Amino acid sequence: MQKEEKDTAGVESLMTKVYDPPENFKAQAWVNDDSPYKKADEDFEGFWAEAAEQNVTWFKKWDKVLDDSNPPFFKWFTGGKLNISYNCIDRHLATPRKNKAAIIWESETGATRTITYQEMYYEVCRFANVLKNLGLKKGDIATIYLPMVPELAIAMLACCRIGVIHSVVFAGFSSGALQDRIEDSNSKLLITCDGNFRRGKPLAMKINADEAMKNCPTIENCIVVKYNGMDIQMQDGRDHWWGEIIADAKPECEPEHMDAEDILFILYTSGTTGKPKGVVHTTGGYLTGVALTHKWVFDAKEEDTYWCSADIGWVTGHSYILYGPLANGATSVMYDGSPDYPERNRWWSMVEKYRVNIFYTAPTAIRAFMKWGPQWPEKHDMSSLRLLGTVGEPINPEAWLWYYKHIGGERCPIVDTWWQTETGMIMVTPLPGYTPLKPGSATKAFPGVHVDIFKDEETERPQAKTKGRLAITKPWPAMLRTLYNDDQRYIDTYWSRWGGKAYIAGDGAFFDDDGYLWVPGRIDDVMNVAGHRLSTMELESALVAHEAVAEAAVVGKTDEFKGQIPVAFVILKDGFDPSDELEGDLKKFVRTKIGPIATPAAVRFTRDLPKTRSGKIMRRLLRDLEEGKPPGDVTTLRDPTIVDEISEIVKAHPTGSK
Ligand code: ATP
Ligand code: MG
Repeated sequence: MQKEEKDTAGVESLMTKVYDPPENFKAQAWVNDDSPYKKADEDFEGFWAEAAEQNVTWFKKWDKVLDDSNPPFFKWFTGGKLNISYNCIDRHLATPRKNKAAIIWESETGATRTITYQEMYYEVCRFANVLKNLGLKKGDIATIYLPMVPELAIAMLACCRIGVIHSVVFAGFSSGALQDRIEDSNSKLLITCDGNFRRGKPLAMKINADEAMKNCPTIENCIVVKYNGMDIQMQDGRDHWWGEIIADAKPECEPEHMDAEDILFILYTSGTTGKPKGVVHTTGGYLTGVALTHKWVFDAKEEDTYWCSADIGWVTGHSYILYGPLANGATSVMYDGSPDYPERNRWWSMVEKYRVNIFYTAPTAIRAFMKWGPQWPEKHDMSSLRLLGTVGEPINPEAWLWYYKHIGGERCPIVDTWWQTETGMIMVTPLPGYTPLKPGSATKAFPGVHVDIFKDEETERPQAKTKGRLAITKPWPAMLRTLYNDDQRYIDTYWSRWGGKAYIAGDGAFFDDDGYLWVPGRIDDVMNVAGHRLSTMELESALVAHEAVAEAAVVGKTDEFKGQIPVAFVILKDGFDPSDELEGDLKKFVRTKIGPIATPAAVRFTRDLPKTRSGKIMRRLLRDLEEGKPPGDVTTLRDPTIVDEISEIVKAHPTGSK
């Protein structure tokens, strides 16, 4: 028991203050009491059946809510027929949403486009007809390699209209990463653009696509959106301009009646933990999950302007820029560009301009804003905001509090949402009109979601709520169905413990005394220092609480005497410079906050940290560098040059406990 307490020492002091939902928010919220939790506890399948009934329009109702006859290959709403593009578009056309903005788009250069639901209908139908004319049929796979342009949303919805499976590859990926994903999925069509913009500079995309297609014989056609206007090669017979090929296409296209279990999309995970996995999502359960969570977690109302700043190339964008919001008839903002272009107030100027009400972003972005300082959001009237959200990483309490104060004006609840590419939908989250918030905790499982913590050594489902592996103990509608073409890897990765009775998320977590869930990070982000288990996040949280520190990553370096020793990598805030004195200060700071055992063996000041293109820190790589091992695969990194830089810093000052 003593030991468990020590494990959570770093965050304990921050677990005390609770933020209750503001009364005015509570009064108008979709959920403001525990009735959905009760309902889901009393009747699990009934809860999800009601969600499917109320949030999705079915061509034919399902026969069975959950088919669990062949675990871990679960099926939801079997026998049901529906179409997602019909749900995201057609059914709104007979309502006052007909001429409402579905998507408000803005590019880095300031170009804008607003697409109403009616316009979306025509665009999607036309592009669906283009796909049909190229011979694509239900079950074929199209790879989409586009930046955040409206055509990305249109292409995805057109695919689901006719049952083509989409595989979206994030626009920042290299030709090699694109090639791997095309090869793995055997896709027939590639949709891309000439090039993108990044901080005022042109960035090639078609050139990368050409490189990849050289080695991908399955690609029969390539459709190219004209975006940044750069010169590119078009291959006769294979390559078609979007603008030309869509010109004569009919603006009507009957939606395919899809089976609830037909595949909707494949999406490769970001690759923090190794070779990307082709996560497979299907139709009926996925839409039910994302529509209900979008409505309740973001308390989405008809008149809201909703902005999720993620990229559609990640699952967050699939579920919470496109499918969830459009299924609910929302207005979703889509921005293609950097948060600091032309200035560091770009996002806040857009919040003011579009009177954004709900804003959803990642902790890594919030920490960058903290580093830049509050003067940027202070330039703008952001009083339209009423709810904030985060996803993608644990949010350290300091960043939470900064977000709460400087972006939310101490008025907006923050929903810290834990979920994964694999889960498809938000799994652990506050419901903002009901759940009291604790900065840094994702709080409680969504109604109808069952989360528990398992210890490594346990072979059966344990009762104990201690620190261990985060597991999901009942199937959920938006769950992944398998890994593409690799059922065995699906079983091995997610279902190989505890007799296959639970889904293992790969994250470490614990419940506090109030039953709040804390997810400090991946299971391999836990260090063992002289017999004490410390999570890297506890140290990182302590470090970023120091006035000089913008962002920190901590890894456990193998050590002959202590097992592991903590080593910290730190990015300083603007206005602070590295020095031996500051290093000493930071070590002392951690020692005082957590205890002597946590004192970093070294603090390394660095310009940046190795991050994936979705902004997550690759701690595994830092550990390899610290231990003098070759860093392995760095292709999913946003800025691979940082690896050499950090390697030099490490070599200059080796560490060890003796
Ligand atoms: P890969 O699986 O290829 O390593 P990835 O896990 O980074 O990639 P995602 O599915 O985008 O790809 O990320 C899900 C992970 O992000 C979770 O497993 C968890 O580690 C982290 N995460 C997401 N949201 C939260 C949150 N609110 N709190 C803590 N961690 C979070
Ligand atoms: Mg993962």
